[in-house]
Amino acid sequence: MLIKLFISVEKLLINPFNLLFFNVSRETIYLMAGLYVHIPFCFSRCGYCDFFKTTQLRSIPQFVENLKSEIALRAPDFNYQINTIYFGGGTPSLLKPEHLTEILNAIKNFFLISDKVEITIECNPDDLSASYLNEILNRGFNRLSVGIQSFNDLDLQNMQRRHNSHQAKMAVDNAIKVGFKNIGVDFIYGLPWSNRQSFLENLAAFQNLPVQHISAYHLTIEKGTSFFNLKRNGLLNELNDVESLEQYLLLCDGLGKAGKVHYEVSNFCSPGYFSQHNTSYWKSVPYLGFGPGSHSFVENKRFWNKSNLKQYLIGRFDLLHEEETLSQADRYNEMIMLGLRTMWGVNMEDCNNNFTEYFQGFNQIAEKWIDRGWLTVLNNYLICKEEHWFQVDRIIEDFLIC
Ligand code: SF4
Repeated sequence: MLIKLFISVEKLLINPFNLLFFNVSRETIYLMAGLYVHIPFCFSRCGYCDFFKTTQLRSIPQFVENLKSEIALRAPDFNYQINTIYFGGGTPSLLKPEHLTEILNAIKNFFLISDKVEITIECNPDDLSASYLNEILNRGFNRLSVGIQSFNDLDLQNMQRRHNSHQAKMAVDNAIKVGFKNIGVDFIYGLPWSNRQSFLENLAAFQNLPVQHISAYHLTIEKGTSFFNLKRNGLLNELNDVESLEQYLLLCDGLGKAGKVHYEVSNFCSPGYFSQHNTSYWKSVPYLGFGPGSHSFVENKRFWNKSNLKQYLIGRFDLLHEEETLSQADRYNEMIMLGLRTMWGVNMEDCNNNFTEYFQGFNQIAEKWIDRGWLTVLNNYLICKEEHWFQVDRIIEDFLIC
């Protein structure tokens, strides 16, 4: 049975954001949801990457078979209409178009899919020949997320990326030529060896790129990466705080001048081109994840597959499953963490209605940061100012309930 919500059109129109998730033309409105598919395969390992991945490419055919089984197994318990599908990794563009079609067909067989579904695939630039792009466009993918990271070849070599800046430019050119109209790219800044000049040159290349979405992440050095080993041996260190903040502010300014809307700490888009999938996460829309290392969120419950490819390949999904039910305090903390990281902020009326017991404390902390000039209130939403997003974790920490 599909979950039905009977909501007046009036209420929907209060928050235009809701229109992303509900089809107001129908009397009965089905709650929208997302699907995430984790493809954990990579040709090689980038120096900074701590995502769950493997270079064991010979396992891909068995992995695809088991992915289809997992989709069939989990689908009956997830009665939502699917508004977004996201293939992340790893490197999903390593999969042959035939494998991608098999997975998409399995999803279409078992779920009710919105006719406006956003289907994103994460890609490495060196996989994106015109013919591959043409194949995946024709097979239903309508949004690309391309891991460019930098247009500086020295940066790419230092990060142990497989591609070079020429391949990155070609990937975007090819995508536009074959007809993709919704292209996102990733950009890593705050590189330890960068300076103001090299950063500005790189930023200019991203500013001039004819794409609709840019995700920009400051490099962090995480345990289990080759960068971490270099750091431990004193051979690499994070960029200092002053330069990091300077790059962030230049980034906000530069992408703003290029016409991009800064809608989340690390995400910028042309007007109207929000990543619907990621935005769903920040708005606590339900989602279901498939593949080892994937996470799901449904009705106050988080559950996930452990990052174990071996068990996944023998089909022991039961051994991989872990879950937790969110407490009232967990849900409050999530609302703060997710809301203050976006331009939409935290809905203060919802906060009062859903977390009455915490609302007095919420107001006191909010006032403190408003007085300091870091937060502001607009139409009853508590919002973090863009220039303070870089340090938003300091504010969030103040609100959290232990
Ligand atoms: S950054 Fe992407 S391509 Fe590089 S190792 Fe990580 S998942 Fe693979």
